[in-house]
Amino acid sequence: KDRINIIGAGLAGSEAALFLLERGYLLNIYEMRPKVKTPVHKTDLFAELVCSNSLGNKSVFSASGLLKEEIRILGSTLIKLAEISSVEAGQALAVDREEFSRRVTDKIISYPNVSVIREEVREIPENTFTIVATGPLTSENLFKYFQKFLDSKDLYFYDATSPIIRYDSIDLNFAFWANRYNKGDSAYLNCPMSEEEYNIFYEELTKADSIRSHFPDEEKYFEGCMPIEELARRGRNTLLYGPLKPKGLKDPRTNKEPYCVVQLRSENKDKTLFNMVGFQTRLPFKEQDRIFRFIPALKNAEFVRYGVMHKNIYFNSSSLIKENLESKKINNLFFAGQIIGTEGYIEAIATGLLAAINLHLKIQGKSYLILPRTTMLGSLINHIINVSAEKPAPMNASFGLLPPLFEKMNKKRRYEEYAKRSLRELNKYLSDFKYYYEN
Ligand code: FAD
Repeated sequence: KDRINIIGAGLAGSEAALFLLERGYLLNIYEMRPKVKTPVHKTDLFAELVCSNSLGNKSVFSASGLLKEEIRILGSTLIKLAEISSVEAGQALAVDREEFSRRVTDKIISYPNVSVIREEVREIPENTFTIVATGPLTSENLFKYFQKFLDSKDLYFYDATSPIIRYDSIDLNFAFWANRYNKGDSAYLNCPMSEEEYNIFYEELTKADSIRSHFPDEEKYFEGCMPIEELARRGRNTLLYGPLKPKGLKDPRTNKEPYCVVQLRSENKDKTLFNMVGFQTRLPFKEQDRIFRFIPALKNAEFVRYGVMHKNIYFNSSSLIKENLESKKINNLFFAGQIIGTEGYIEAIATGLLAAINLHLKIQGKSYLILPRTTMLGSLINHIINVSAEKPAPMNASFGLLPPLFEKMNKKRRYEEYAKRSLRELNKYLSDFKYYYEN
């Protein structure tokens, strides 16, 4: 059997390791903790949950629940261990974090075919099968190594993202397409506000509390990138001369320049998702959901992802990796976890599993597992591989990523139909992949 390197024993690395160990591969797992620490991990255990102990909604009719069900079907071990370690949390799958990580660690080291090397990896080994899963807090030295080889457009070290909204939830009666001064094809969907509407919006925005950062020195990452609520606190007119300026835009309904304008720009090639230009924010998600609805076109907005600002090392996967999660440039090098531009615990576990499955299939000389776009995991991978935004925003599981259903229906039914379609198509697809379960 070939020897495989796994770099980083977080959520993605641990899931990948267990899939491969089960199949008898010889594994080197490199984990830098406890010798080299990250600002947020507290233990030397594998698969440590760095913040909340919740792995999201259990209902298969939620995006996170559907992703969990899909990876359960694909054979995830971490989901099983999370269920055994779960604590009472209503609709959410929450775990006793220490018990969960201990179970994962014990299971990994119980295999005779694993070597655990507690060292920081500073460069990627060549000519071997490797999965890199060093996460959003990849060590400084490895980050510098990536910087040497990658274009700055392909490697990011912080996530300052504006909220992303489903196009079909924007009220087009209160929005218009136009570029400033009519330059080029209309790429922007403009959401105007009157003076009275702006006053209410402004007051709510300046009253809200921002979230505290996990990192004391984080401000240095955000030079030139100010949260919208912070800009607003500088004075009532700051936004009107900044991200909300109406200059060069004419509302076709009035044929006049609006008082102010929130601009939306497409996030994906299909133009089903739009981000709020210049709205990077540290507001709690509930406050974003409440305050941004004061913008008339967004009163019924479905937020696929809320704005965040925090340290987060990740790639622009659309340039660097293929759909099987292998590097475009380097043979046999796979990537998984948050570093590929996904976000969230389950998303990291899911991509760890997918990278391991595809590495296994590659060694076996079989065709890759490329999941249908109608599945939650397939659509997530499709999104990060095909994202069109200049600076891609890390993405979590969301129904907004799935191809739309043809029939109009309310949100609850729509989510149910999405989930049924996903599981039906996943099972159908996997029936052609029977050999993947063998050995
Ligand atoms: P990790 O779980 O971080 O694993 C990476 C591993 O690689 C670590 O063990 C690290 O020590 C190791 N490593 C790094 N560099 C090297 C190196 N050079 N050599 C060897 N080992 C290395 N998601 C949620 O769903 N809910 C949350 O509440 C949540 N909170 C978060 C809070 C913070 C502060 C951050 C940064 C992220 C949070 N996330 C959250 C996002 C994400 O789900 C987690 O970061 C998740 O742990 C990512 O999984 P991963 O496997 O990609 O990385």
